[in-house]
Amino acid sequence: MTLLRSHLSGTWQTGSGDGRPLYDAVTGDEVARVSAEGLDLGAALAHGRRTGGPALRELTFHQRAALLKALGGHLREHREELYAVSARTGATLGDSKFDIDGGIGVLLAYASKAKRELPNDTVFVEGAVEPLGRGGSFLGQHVLTPRHGVAVQVNAFNFPVWGPLEKLAPAFLAGVPTLIKPASPTAFLTARLVELIVDSGLLPDGAVQFVAGSLGDCFDHLTGQDLVSFTGSASTAQTLRSHPGIVRNSVRFSAEADSLNLAALGPDATPGTEEFDLFVTALTTEMTVKAGQKCTAIRRAFVPRAHVDAVVEAVTARLASVVVGAPGAEGVRMGALASLDQREEVRRSVKALRDAGRIVFGDPDRVEVTGADADRGAFVSPLLLVGDPDRAEPHEVEAFGPVSTVLPYDTPAQLIDYAARGQGSLAGSVVSADPGFVREVVLGVAPFHGRVHVLNARDAGESTGHGSPLPQLVHGGPGRAGGGEEMGGVRGVFHHMQRTAVQADPDSLAAITGRWVTGAQRYTTDVHPFRRHLEELRPGDCLVAGPRRVTREDVEHFAEFTGDTFYAHMDEAAAAANPLFGQRVAHGYLVVSLAAGLFVDPDPGPVLANFGVDGLRFLTPVRFDDELTVTLTCKQLTPRESAGYGEVRWDADVTRQDGESVARYDVLTLVAKKDA
Ligand code: NDP
Repeated sequence: MTLLRSHLSGTWQTGSGDGRPLYDAVTGDEVARVSAEGLDLGAALAHGRRTGGPALRELTFHQRAALLKALGGHLREHREELYAVSARTGATLGDSKFDIDGGIGVLLAYASKAKRELPNDTVFVEGAVEPLGRGGSFLGQHVLTPRHGVAVQVNAFNFPVWGPLEKLAPAFLAGVPTLIKPASPTAFLTARLVELIVDSGLLPDGAVQFVAGSLGDCFDHLTGQDLVSFTGSASTAQTLRSHPGIVRNSVRFSAEADSLNLAALGPDATPGTEEFDLFVTALTTEMTVKAGQKCTAIRRAFVPRAHVDAVVEAVTARLASVVVGAPGAEGVRMGALASLDQREEVRRSVKALRDAGRIVFGDPDRVEVTGADADRGAFVSPLLLVGDPDRAEPHEVEAFGPVSTVLPYDTPAQLIDYAARGQGSLAGSVVSADPGFVREVVLGVAPFHGRVHVLNARDAGESTGHGSPLPQLVHGGPGRAGGGEEMGGVRGVFHHMQRTAVQADPDSLAAITGRWVTGAQRYTTDVHPFRRHLEELRPGDCLVAGPRRVTREDVEHFAEFTGDTFYAHMDEAAAAANPLFGQRVAHGYLVVSLAAGLFVDPDPGPVLANFGVDGLRFLTPVRFDDELTVTLTCKQLTPRESAGYGEVRWDADVTRQDGESVARYDVLTLVAKKDA
């Protein structure tokens, strides 16, 4: 039987020895073997740092995003092939799509988020400039730069494609190379994924490496620039977190581990309501998708005591129609667990749960199987229990399979107390249409959850479901759930970067960040900045226009024309009584409009559009006959990859005759490239 290949230090390599056999979850046949014996993981980490890291850091966020997008497209073209391999992990086609399409979706979502939310640059400038001195010559600014290490990911067996990709996307965008270590039982699917990635030739050498088998002495070679992201059991998380290589070097370690996720049915959601049915459907779905092997699956189903029997009856009826068997066989809705070991683990856990409850659906030792041999495949029946919430087991024992326990509760306060007994979870659902109950429970359970999902008739049509982690949102949870955070949009990218507080004078800060800041050098020339193409502009290019007197007639004309006859502009007596103004003042929007009239260059030219303003503040009232001057300064240039234009952010400072700023904002424009 063949050993799975690892991709390390730029080559495909195979470990020595016979390796550990991996089995088809459905037939029990051996699929492949894994061994990392003799592979030099220290050298692989060095290769990532020396080759992959520098290549990625040369690219801007947008260029990395374009590669991620291309990779997503490439994998999408090969997904049928991945589905076929995935079936051998026990996954139905639906399960495979969850894993494979879900993973590709993360790549694409991150690529698109990066283009919108990150600059076309290699450094991320975070937050506003902090003035640190009175004279404006000493400023502070946080910047984020890529860590010069490798993101080592240790994955769980249940998502052999989504797991590696959801960790890869943010690391890659940050400019940090990745070393993928899949869980052995399903490593043959991750191996195929990595072959597709490497063969695509899209990513720079060293950007993605892969080890099939154990990590050996890998952690001994970690440095303070590396990161480790782990998904799996709480006990392994604890072992890895306290590894001397992690502790000694303060390696950024993030874990996502066991989680006793909950769903709570609201007292308003009585049998017959839409919410009651949504709860029943969510619970059944979470039990059966991936045969319940989802870190987010609902383990604890809290139900108002009066409705326990009705919920059990409805869920039992649904589960009775679930056909268990070989993926692809006629009618099969639920596949196998990932391995026979995993089935033993589930049976052991159910035994513990039974001590604090009773099984109301299914038999842990018997299941009718379609299209496969029930003894050779890792099949198990869906198992529903009713438990005692005052016992510890339902809050502590995670049966990582199609297993949930219905638990009665009496009051929202009691429900919140029970929720906390899970000691930290990834996801919770509150199924209710009662805003009072929803608020109390969501805020009550939030400190114990990474994500809380409110489900009712109003959002059900668009809800992505209880169990789906989304690239835009944080995935992780406190305490038992590992204490880490993954994804969460650009937060996940920043996790792989170092935040540094830079203290400097305005010119140095402008040079470091590539952005003009207040107090830095301005450049005025004869050419209007709106007549310059993107390549011809530089931060600091500036135009001073005005003065323009604002008359009573201007204000009254503007009021009549727009319909904005607010008393502060139009009613002498009322304006006089206003404690902020004391007299009639010009509209803020008039000031901004007059400023545009001052700085605009009217003829056709490289400026294609004005797409908004950011941070508009009216700072000082403008009275009749005040004179306005506007200073427009090019602040930041963001060329768009594969577009004939880019974004230009301008600082607009509108001042009065006494030099006082009356309005300040950023004007956002699209400016053509010269060769477009
Ligand atoms: P493990 O914690 O045993 O394994 C997770 C990953 O860690 C695998 O890649 C495994 O590799 C690796 N690993 C294990 N030991 C070490 C070590 N000493 N050094 C380095 N890497 C190590 O979890 P399992 O995948 O076996 O699942 C066991 C239980 O964990 C499940 O039954 C379930 O309760 C829980 N789980 C929770 C998940 C979650 O997301 N919350 C997801 C999956 C499982 P290898 O496979 O090669 O040993």
